[in-house]
Amino acid sequence: MAQIMTENHSPETEADQKQLHQDSSNAAGPRPCQAMSLQETVSHDRDDQQPPARRGFLTSIIAGLMMAVAAIATSLGGKWTLANVNNGPNNNRRKQYGMVIDVRRCIGCHACSVACKSEFDVPIGENRSWVEYIEKGVYPNVSRSFLPRLCNHCSEPPCVYVCPTNATYKREEDGIVVVDQGLCIGCKYCIQACPYDARFLNPITGWADKCDFCTHRVAKGLEPSCVSTCVGAARIFGDLGDLDSEISKLVAKNRVTVLRREMGTFPNVYYIAADHTDELDARRPEVQTVRVITNRRHQKRR
Ligand code: SF4
Repeated sequence: MAQIMTENHSPETEADQKQLHQDSSNAAGPRPCQAMSLQETVSHDRDDQQPPARRGFLTSIIAGLMMAVAAIATSLGGKWTLANVNNGPNNNRRKQYGMVIDVRRCIGCHACSVACKSEFDVPIGENRSWVEYIEKGVYPNVSRSFLPRLCNHCSEPPCVYVCPTNATYKREEDGIVVVDQGLCIGCKYCIQACPYDARFLNPITGWADKCDFCTHRVAKGLEPSCVSTCVGAARIFGDLGDLDSEISKLVAKNRVTVLRREMGTFPNVYYIAADHTDELDARRPEVQTVRVITNRRHQKRR
């Protein structure tokens, strides 16, 4: 049989031999030597002698999968803190001091404002912490609510990003936004950048000023003065990165809000049951029945 096939396909002329050689070169399927090289390639894939590029690719995929699994396991394991959830992409701190203000407990007494002014000798006409009154409606259907205000110690603070001298910065150890008065040149960039009007230029020192969560008291294990003075215990201060802290439990259990969330600053001051109507809202022409009274910069408005 083999002989018959050999006879049937044997080239009869030199041209036929050339054609046969060309056909065999173009024919589909490996020649014996090609088949050998394919087998060798397969066997290389299966042993440890992988090409470096492919090994690196596989390693990176495996590492990526392991990281994804680790992230899921971490989130399920309770280490996924509120600070991680609410903070911006640049904030990986374990500790983040913050404040919850339960507006249901605020009676608008201004004890916090006075305590703050006393603690820092804040000049007349300026405030580090203040309380807004929000009045709504037309007599006799009227209401008044209170909105205590202060620096939000944002996780993505625009005041920090615009400071040309790095005088204002977010502390690595606890996330408090502070001002190094030795570096401040009083350019007011930070005052313009803050969406919460939390800063002012101290007319006596010429430096940018604002709430710093009473860092000198916190360093001694004390609460900020506005917290310790609040007669209704409306202010709760603590570490948002600690899931067992009172503040973290309050944030977890209540429907909390922040001021101007749309600004993407990730504030660390949370409100319970707050009416966030502010001065800008009250100025809108369609809003006829809202009045916001604030003691912020009271004297400058006269
Ligand atoms: Fe800065 Fe204003 Fe945020 Fe305070 S509230 S951290 S001053 S942007």
